[in-house]
Amino acid sequence: MNKYQDALYDIIDYGISTDYFNKEAEKPQEENRILIVQEAVEKETPLKPYNIFNIKPNCRNCDAKLTTVENYCPNCGQRIDWSQNV
Ligand SMILES: [Zn+2]
Repeated sequence: MNKYQDALYDIIDYGISTDYFNKEAEKPQEENRILIVQEAVEKETPLKPYNIFNIKPNCRNCDAKLTTVENYCPNCGQRIDWSQNV
């Protein structure tokens, strides 16, 4: 887990354990915020490209061809892990 995932899980745990989260009117808003943060966490969590041995590997999130070794997919913003370890 990275620091973003840690922070997100802390927020989720905190929210569920407080009365604030139990107010029915606040729930949809709170869940929406968590989904937005979750999306950011997933984009910032590096994913290895697939077809790594092709000239142009693919982004695992959106399938776009990655034409250069960039830290982020130019199409969807997914952080890319270019390390060779499995
Ligand atoms: Zn992508």
